[in-house]
Amino acid sequence: MPILALFTWIILTATPVTTINETAFEWPNGAKAAICLTYDDGLPSHIQTVAPALKKHGLRATFYPTMASESIQAHMAQWRQLAIDGHELGNHSLYHPCQKSEPDMDWVPDWYDLDQYSLQQLLGEVKVANTFLQALDGQESRSFAYPCGHFHADGEDFTKPLQAHNSAARDASESQLALPSIEEVDLFHIPSWAPNGHDAKALIDYVEKVIEQQTLSSFTFHGVGAEHMQISVEAHESLLEYLVKNEDKIWVTTIEAAANYLQKHRK
Ligand SMILES: [Zn+2]
Repeated sequence: MPILALFTWIILTATPVTTINETAFEWPNGAKAAICLTYDDGLPSHIQTVAPALKKHGLRATFYPTMASESIQAHMAQWRQLAIDGHELGNHSLYHPCQKSEPDMDWVPDWYDLDQYSLQQLLGEVKVANTFLQALDGQESRSFAYPCGHFHADGEDFTKPLQAHNSAARDASESQLALPSIEEVDLFHIPSWAPNGHDAKALIDYVEKVIEQQTLSSFTFHGVGAEHMQISVEAHESLLEYLVKNEDKIWVTTIEAAANYLQKHRK
């Protein structure tokens, strides 16, 4: 075999014929899936219970306080500290308007009824909440969480116009919905399950489902050991312990970081 042909043969045969998985999506550190811990409504237990628990386990989360939250006003330094500690302060609007026409929404006051809001009114709230949060944490980009999981103002879907103001958006559902594959995850409808009184086993089972399906999901938590839609301090603690023990399998991160990563690395 002439020398040039021999070199060509060596080069060709040294190159793998197939490149299986070369372009497959991968999470940081080889994790199979990702989960975001999110805490809504700016509740006192987030400062008193959740922040120390996350610190103890070295985990980062996303907090979605409404700007009307009394805890924000009363404990502004502690809320600022959450951002300093690496957590995301996400946008959950100023006044938490929800669609009163949806089931079990009788408690929504008429003046915060999203069905009665104009699109401009809602986007105005979103912008002011972003400005307020930027004054707190100095960040120019953050995600949004739809109040009550609702995303229609005056009957109009505001998912698209929201994209001019926030980097991603999280849904919320009290039932566990089917998980989309990682290719199908919509960054402006990031899936989320909102537990209500569930125990540690139910929370861990959900994470195992996310790992099994190799996708991204999130928890929408409210009170921890207090307040509305609460889970117990013990269930929360067991979940965090499980997540740390399984960090080779599941990436625990903020909504903003998960969305940025997907945007960059997903085909
Ligand atoms: Zn909320």
